Amino acid sequence: MRPGWFPGSGRLCRVASIIRSPLSAVAVRSMSQSQPRAGRPALASWLSTGNSITQQFMAIGGQADFVSLAGGLPAAELYPVEAMAAAQERALTRWGSAILEYGPIEGLPALRAAVAERVSAASGRRFGPENVLLTTGAMQGLDLVGKLLVDPGELIVSQFPTYLGALDAWRPRAPRYEKLDWSLQAPGQDAALRQAKFVYAVPNYSNPTGVLVSQEERAALLDKVLAAGTWLLEDDPYLPLQFDGPAGPGILAHHAQRQPSGAYDGPVIYLGTLSKSLAPGLRVGWIVAEASLIAALALVKQSTDIASSLLTQALALEMIESDFEAQHVPKIVATYRERRDALCAAASEHLSDWFEWEVPPGGMFVWMRAKTPEIDTDALYAHALQEKVAFVPSSVFDPDGALKSAMRVNFTRSAPEVLTEGVRRLARATRRQLEARPGRAA
Ligand code: PMP
Repeated sequence: MRPGWFPGSGRLCRVASIIRSPLSAVAVRSMSQSQPRAGRPALASWLSTGNSITQQFMAIGGQADFVSLAGGLPAAELYPVEAMAAAQERALTRWGSAILEYGPIEGLPALRAAVAERVSAASGRRFGPENVLLTTGAMQGLDLVGKLLVDPGELIVSQFPTYLGALDAWRPRAPRYEKLDWSLQAPGQDAALRQAKFVYAVPNYSNPTGVLVSQEERAALLDKVLAAGTWLLEDDPYLPLQFDGPAGPGILAHHAQRQPSGAYDGPVIYLGTLSKSLAPGLRVGWIVAEASLIAALALVKQSTDIASSLLTQALALEMIESDFEAQHVPKIVATYRERRDALCAAASEHLSDWFEWEVPPGGMFVWMRAKTPEIDTDALYAHALQEKVAFVPSSVFDPDGALKSAMRVNFTRSAPEVLTEGVRRLARATRRQLEARPGRAA
């Protein structure tokens, strides 16, 4: 990587202070303490319910002697720099100054059509450009759906634990949450689904757990969603990262089988992205849904950012049209599979006395669950920083912040030997946390 701004070079002072001061659970969860000068208006109250963990681990990633197993970042050395340079050249030649304008709110028409084609091929029914809104990453899709559907105090039924970025996106909407139980047997689940503005799920190699939800569970959830008359937000960034065989049809495809023709009017709102298969810096993602919902989301997007960058959309279009992903994704998958295996082998050697996990069949994360209640991963996080290793504690994936018994560990960003060293450091940190716990003689 060239010297430059990333990651978090301007925040190193902040990181130094994070590392010097042992983090309490409260410090992990409380949002940056920054307040305006005395005498100026206070910050919006929703900020006090947030946390600064994402800022922290973006900053930590910039330090040479630190092993960050925290971020959800791809391997930077696999970013296709040359192919992107050539694609950018082609895009500027193809579109000229038109590509430097504000774009249509819904996105570059040719890319909308290409995404519609991709989703049609994957789901086996026709989706047209009218079913596609291009977004600034899938993250913006989460934000727009929250803004469109949720008023303060309304209910979201969400897979649990829940992707931190989704909780962040919806925090200003001040929703309530109920846990999605994939068995659908939990008491009150049907009533919750009936009240919910939408259900949120990441069925493919979920963030943070890496779980691949079974086809039966997908179909059963769709039945319940249809019966309850709510929306289902299917967030699918990890689809390309399949290590151990195909993921199988998504929930959108399940619905497509039930309604194979005509204008799409199903309950599924599908989010996709090029962040994991090409590069997150492109910031190209999409929402696929019924046309009237897309039109409403476009109104919300208009007041959010006018339009996404046409230039990066044109670049993405070149990459898609040249079929680059088809050659590139197998290379990423092979690298990530090796890294996953290295991480899990090291964890078996150094962490299995204290943690258990399933080897994820895809995605970017291993979800490690403590075997003993004496491990508190918020407290462990502070010790880990002192050992110069970072992970993401489970509390930030819980809308209530109460889940302290697990951690999300990323394996895609670092080489196998770095992952092994990171795991050794995690083992040292775990020993320190157990020795330091209250009530233990020093
Ligand atoms: N949803 C999930 C579940 C994710 O893990 C991520 C990325 N970490 C996103 C959405 C956001 O992706 P993007 O880079 O496309 O904004």
